Amino acid sequence: MLDTYWVWLTGELAMAGSSLLDMQKRVSWLYLVSALMVACGLFTWRYGRNGLRRLGPLLSPRIWLHPSSRTDFGLWLINRLVLALVIPKALTHMAWVSWLYFFWQSIGLGDLALGWPTPVVIGLFSLSYFLLDDFSRFFTHWLLHKVPTLWLFHQVHHSATVLTPFTVFRTHPVEGGIFFLRSLGTQSVVVSLFVVLFPNQVSLWQIFGVLGTTFIFNLLGANLRHSQVVLSFGAVVERWFISPAQHQIHHSKARIHYDRNFGVTLAIWDRLFGSWVPGDDDQALQYGTGQIIDQKSVWGQWWYPIETLLKRARRSILSHLPPRKPKNAPRI
Ligand SMILES: [Zn+2]
Ligand SMILES: [Zn+2]
Repeated sequence: MLDTYWVWLTGELAMAGSSLLDMQKRVSWLYLVSALMVACGLFTWRYGRNGLRRLGPLLSPRIWLHPSSRTDFGLWLINRLVLALVIPKALTHMAWVSWLYFFWQSIGLGDLALGWPTPVVIGLFSLSYFLLDDFSRFFTHWLLHKVPTLWLFHQVHHSATVLTPFTVFRTHPVEGGIFFLRSLGTQSVVVSLFVVLFPNQVSLWQIFGVLGTTFIFNLLGANLRHSQVVLSFGAVVERWFISPAQHQIHHSKARIHYDRNFGVTLAIWDRLFGSWVPGDDDQALQYGTGQIIDQKSVWGQWWYPIETLLKRARRSILSHLPPRKPKNAPRI
């Protein structure tokens, strides 16, 4: 029995380590190197050779060995193990795609089968998937900030006081579960709809739709958004795409920056919701929530949201109970 668990544990840890080599993972060495090159290019273009000094924090041992960074690593490994245990393997995306496929058929969408040229279908599929995926990430993130109970769990991500590419994994498992359901919902809806409307034409969806957009996003420096390197995209591009500097504003400790820049790739959702703030190469920010959770260890990060939730529930229950009679109260 113990042997089985040991094999499972070592296997999962090895898989976590292999993320550094896996091109489908954001922290793969390729994307870490490409982020560095994007920053090198833009800084040199803007500031000449002096611009390279701005990359200093990316290579600083003080940042990588900071207690906050060590907590990032701890949460990354432990969350992997927990989510691998909790999320049932049977709950696959394909099961949901099949269920939705038969649902769309039952309401007659199958009769609409459109015979559009395959390149158009693939292009339309990629665009629909990208827009729905990006908006659903934005909106889920918006909810994590606006719903007080959800914020309890999301504050774990904001408790990082220094940012490294591994801060992306600094989340509470409850948030991991919420984002898993989000991806399940968006992927299943788009894939099943396209399979019904365009039978036998979306078999390449994975290559063109998912991998294509994720690959470009990661290649263009997604890792810099969680780093101490402050890089904006310039006045024009900044209005359309979330730059590393914009996401760093999202992590700022300053009250003026609370609930700003929820987006992942496109900045248009934030502009529509009135939460957009452009980034600037020279912004000087402090990161964290400024609350006690910033100092918590890995286990503290896990327990603190649950403890706070239990305390709130207890207070709420007590406030609904009739007040106790004082001991010497006269009988009526
Ligand atoms: Zn947030
Ligand atoms: Zn973040």
